[in-house]
This record gives sequence, C-alpha cells and structure tokens, in this order.
Amino acid sequence: MSVILDLTRIVQAAAEAESPSAQVSVIVDSIQHYMNLDVCSLYLADEHGDMALLASRGLDQAAVGHVRIPAGKGLVGLVAQSRHPINIADAARHPAFYGVRETQEEQYSSFFGVPIVRSGVVIGVLVAQSREARELSDDESAVLVTLGSQLALVVATESIWQDINKSSARTLSGIKGAPGVGIGQVRLCDDVDLYSATDGPCDDIDATLAEWHDLVNAVLADVKREQAGLGDLLSQDVATVFDAYYLMLSDPSLVNGVAQLIQDGHHLPGALKRVIHHHADVFLAMEDPYLRARHEDIRHLGNKLYSTWRGLHNDDESELPTTRTILVGAQVSVSDIARVPTEFLAGIVCFQGSNLSHTAVLANALGVPAVMGVGEIRGLYNRDLLVVDGNAARVIVRPHASVLQEYQRFLKAEEQLKSELQQLRDLPAITQDGTTIRLYANSGLLADISPGLQAGAEGLGLYRTEIPFMVSDTFPSEDEQLAVYRQILQAYGDKPVYMRVLDIGGDKPLPYFPIREENPALGWRGIRFCLDNSSLFMSQIRAMLRAAEGRDNLRIMLPMVGSTSELVEFHKRLKDALLQLTDEGVNVQCPPVGIMVEVPSAISQLRSWREQLDFISIGSNDLSQYLLALDRNNPRVAASYDHVHPAVLHEIARVIEIATDTQLPVSVCGEMSSDPIAVVLLVGMGMRTLSMSAAQLPKIKWLLRRISLQSARAIVAEALQLNDAKQIRKLVADRLYVLGAGEILW
Ligand code: PEP
Ligand code: MG
Repeated sequence: MSVILDLTRIVQAAAEAESPSAQVSVIVDSIQHYMNLDVCSLYLADEHGDMALLASRGLDQAAVGHVRIPAGKGLVGLVAQSRHPINIADAARHPAFYGVRETQEEQYSSFFGVPIVRSGVVIGVLVAQSREARELSDDESAVLVTLGSQLALVVATESIWQDINKSSARTLSGIKGAPGVGIGQVRLCDDVDLYSATDGPCDDIDATLAEWHDLVNAVLADVKREQAGLGDLLSQDVATVFDAYYLMLSDPSLVNGVAQLIQDGHHLPGALKRVIHHHADVFLAMEDPYLRARHEDIRHLGNKLYSTWRGLHNDDESELPTTRTILVGAQVSVSDIARVPTEFLAGIVCFQGSNLSHTAVLANALGVPAVMGVGEIRGLYNRDLLVVDGNAARVIVRPHASVLQEYQRFLKAEEQLKSELQQLRDLPAITQDGTTIRLYANSGLLADISPGLQAGAEGLGLYRTEIPFMVSDTFPSEDEQLAVYRQILQAYGDKPVYMRVLDIGGDKPLPYFPIREENPALGWRGIRFCLDNSSLFMSQIRAMLRAAEGRDNLRIMLPMVGSTSELVEFHKRLKDALLQLTDEGVNVQCPPVGIMVEVPSAISQLRSWREQLDFISIGSNDLSQYLLALDRNNPRVAASYDHVHPAVLHEIARVIEIATDTQLPVSVCGEMSSDPIAVVLLVGMGMRTLSMSAAQLPKIKWLLRRISLQSARAIVAEALQLNDAKQIRKLVADRLYVLGAGEILW
C-alpha cells in the first residue's frame, strides 16, 4: 500500500512540475527521498542517442547538465541498448563499466538502471546507486521498473531539450587563430590527457623498455601517415610542423629520459608524464611568445604517445567524420587535424593556445577558421552544434536558430563571393570608375609566401625580418639570413619585395636578447636598436644586398624612424655595406630605401627628408598606437584603439598630401589595409597602394572593384566631419550597404 502511495506521489509530483527542467529534478529528488537511496539519477537520450545526465540527487552537482555518455557506452548504454533493467552489486567490476570522472561515482558500489521507453524508443535511463555493495531487493526493483514505465508517459522530453538548448546557447570570446566562419558538429580532442595519468611501479623493466621503443616507432609511423594524408595542401614551411614532431621523437633527451625513468622503476605513463612535463615547462618559461607556444607541441606529442599506448586511437575508417566537423580541445594537435578529411574540417577551437601556435599556423595554411584561447568550455559534447567565427574571434555554442540562420546566410554569401574572387585572381583591383589600386601582401613566415602569390599579390609590401630572428635560438648569421632573403626575392620574381630591417624591441622581443625597460614601446626598438648594434645591423644589410645580387626587386624599409639623424646614419651604413661587398666582388646595386611612417614625429619632417627617401609606407598599427597613446596589445584599452579614429585619419590625409606634393610613392602596410571600412577611407583619401595579409587580399580586391573612387571620396568627405571612430565606422558601413558591397563587412 505504501509503495503504491509513494509511486503515485512521485508520478504526480513529476506531472505537476512547474517547468520541463524542474520536472527532472522533482523526479530524482522524490525517488531518492521516498526510496531512501544514496543516489538517484536521470539520463535522457539526445538526438544522437547519447545519454545526458540531466538530474541527480547524490552525484556531484557540477556534473549535472555537463556529463553525456556516448550511445552504447557504459552501464547506462547497456540498459538503453538491452532495454532491460540491470541490477549489479559491484558496478566497477562489470565489463561495461565506464567511469566518468566528473560524477565522482567511484564511492558508490551498486548500480540499478531501468530504461524509460516510449512508443518503442528508449528516451532515457533511470539509475539508482548505493554505497553498499548490494543488489536491490525485488521490491525495490519492482518500484523502479514501474516508475520507469510511468515516467515514460509524463516526462516532457521535447520541452526539456528545448529548454536546455535555449539556456545553453552561449558565445565565448578568444583570440583570432585563422579567419573565416565555420559551422559544424563538435568533435572533442584531447580526451586523453597524459597529465592526468597516475604514476606507478614498473613490473617488468625489460618488457616496458621494449614497449617504449615500439611506441616511439609506432607514433613516428603515425605522424608520417598523417603528414602524407594532408599531402599537397601543406606548403613546405607548414610541413616543418611535422618535422618538429619527428625531431622531438628522435630527441635523445626525450627518448632516453623516459627509458631512464623506466629503468628507475617507473611504469611507462608515469615516466612519460615526467619527461613531457619537464620539456614543456622549459618552453613555457620562455619569454618569446613563439617559443612559449612550442610547449603546446610537446604536450600534444605526450598525449599522442599516451593515447597510442592506451590503444585509444582507432583509425578505423568508420571513425572518420562524415559531416562538417569542428575540432575542440584544450589543445588541438596537428595529428587531430590530420585525422579529419579536409573537406569535413569546418573549424578549430582551442581552450588554450595563441595565434602563434602550430595549430593556428596550420589552420591558416589550410584556410580553416580557428579561435584560440577561449578557456575551457564546460558542458560541450561531441556532435553539439558550434559556430566558429575566426573573423571576430568568437565561438557560439549551440546557437539559437536565428543566429544560426544569420551565419548560414553569411556562409552562402561567402561561397558566392569566393567563386567571384576566384575569377578575380588575375584581374586588377580597379574601381568602378577606373582607378587602379596596387595590392601587396605582408609576410613574416616563409609559409606566407605562396598564399600571397596565389592570392594575386603584386608584390610583398612588408616582409617582417624579425620573425626569422624570433624563431631562432641565436642571432641568425649573415649566411643564414641570406638563404631566407634570397628565397623570398626569388619567389616574387620581378615583383617588388619591401624588406623591413629588424624591428625588435617593444612588442617583439628576442628570447636570446632580453631588453628590460620601463617603457618598451618608447624605448630601444626598431631603427634605434639597429643603429646601436652595428655589426648585427651590418650583417643584415649585407645579407639583403647579397640576396638581391643580379635582381632589382629589393626595397629596404626602416621601422620607427623619427629623427633625421637616423636616416642619415642608415645611408652611411648602406654605403659602407655596398662598398664592402663590391670590394668582395659581389655584384651589388643600391636598392630603393624608404621608411615606415609610424612615429608621429616623422610626418612633419617628411618634406625635408624627401631627398633621402624613395618611398614611404604607413605603419598604421604603430602610428595609431602613438597618436592615440593606446597600447595596441593591452586588452584593457583595446576597445578604444581604432585606426579609423579621426585623429589617425587626419594625419594619414596629411601624409598623403605631402606624398602627392613631393611625388613620393606611398602605401599602407598596417592592419588598416585589411579592414574594408578603412580601405574605403584610404582610397577616398588618395591611397593607391595597400599591403595586407594574403588571406584578406581577395576580399579587398572584390570590394575595390565594387565601389567607385567618386563614392569613396564622398564617404571620406562625410567621415572627416565626424569626431568619433564608432560613428565613422557606422557611416562607412551604411554607405557600403547602399553601394551593394555590404556583405564584405561580415
Ligand atoms: C605597423 O606598425 O603598422 C606595422 C605594419 O608594423 P608592425 O605591426 O610589425 O609593428
Ligand atoms: Mg610597426
């Protein structure tokens, strides 16, 4: 009698719950209470059959709403598949047991699960657990089985899922990894984390040593296969990402380090964890952001070795995604990327990592949108829908239908734009009323070279020579520099290459040459550093001149020039280098020389420097930073930093006027050239050469071919009347929509 009463109360309470999500809590609370159980939990099946833990009385609450057991896995999966109750005293010993760390259910021994079946379909599983290792009695089992069938009638599954999806849509911000937008299903990576492996003793040292060496060889073979899988999509430079894996796998300090620890009595995962930890920490402690980012590669490799050891990676064809997929993980490794067929790879999201990590480099090279450093995304499951917006460094988890529609609309427009862009590749960037704009690419990595040329760049407008310096262990020698510079000049054939001399200091530190200053942005950087480090500077100038032997496409550009003496000094050094090399029998010629206009004091001196300059290029990133006194890399003030600030625009207009008056070729090589709003303004103000990242070039060309110079001029006239960057952005955006070029702003 009392059992029936309890049953009635539970079902009634469930039916009367205020909302669908309250209903599931009412169910588990009342069952746990009336039946005096340690744990009562309710799992509901999602559209893929995965079982989501939606309510529990007894399990760790942090797990509720976050744990999802893959279809068919574990005891819950077994109940769902068999459609029968399961009653076990010691769950952990059952072959189907699947421990979920977040629930902390190790403390409960017994497991009783009953399927909830509606119209022949398993919609969920009701689970009871207790600390004591005992099977439930026949009476208890009967109540739960009856409840299972009663609940099938009252649980409002559809509304519950709607509720969940509504409340769980969220947007996260990160760092731009690679541009573009991707929509797809989540595939979680890094499910194997070496750092969470426990240490333990080694039972058989000889066998474990042999196992370790086999493991290294197996992973080496794996990496080779993955690299071959990506094949022609990789430029030579990006292929070196894989070379880094080979190098690490043949590094004696790693291979022997693990072997030594095994010999000392550690089992394989424990030994591997210690060595990987040590190596990763060395990189993590480095100041240079590029080198610091290398610690991620070491961790990836550690996880790869560990997962192979555990035999977790099943490269079976059936495991390959067959739908648009977004890889998500603390760190998405190059191997994770290689495992997804490129036609299905829609995006990459990393909880950690920077835009300098190999993952970002590879994503850029493959043209896959990526967002880095979003922080851990809790409650994200395999096959959840995700939007990766690499343009805005945003990730949208389980987007609302309206948001999804907007992004789909955007992707469709992009598709169309892409096919138009393809046809534009060899056409000039010419406005509707016939003005030609020269488009150059910016670069710093060898990896950027082919994309720039493929995108139809008419030259390399800014080659940041400090990047090869930043990724080296010491100052590269003159010959090492020569090899890199020669490759670049040759790749561009007869197209001009503007090589900027070393611009270190400030936001670009060298790991092997630390400069400690109170105010680095105003300190020893750019040309100031170069002139003070004579022999280093001479070797760079000599390397550039030697690389240009027999060709005439080298231009030398000086960063951060603010005083006449810097320009005079440089010309002296250049003359010396030319004389030296001529004496050495090298057939050198004096290349055109110019400066970046990025220190505001340069602007008013340009006329007086005219004789010493062959060109100028506006470095709008630093120019904006110094004009606005806003650190371009400081997230606290980032929101106020905008290169279309009226003060910046007025100064650029002044530079263009001086350049026109003195017939001095001028370009822009800062981020402004990649920003459609800024491009309209620059062209309207008279700029005819823009240098930008290769990825942005086709879009900017499309924009320029859509608008007329006359309309750009009219927009500038209006914009320069405004005194606020936001208003200026809005004005240009509105006008672009009217001109039929608004989709560029997506
Ligand atoms: C700039 O300052 O605009 C520029 C192009 O140089 P960098 O971003 O390398 O400082
Ligand atoms: Mg600069």
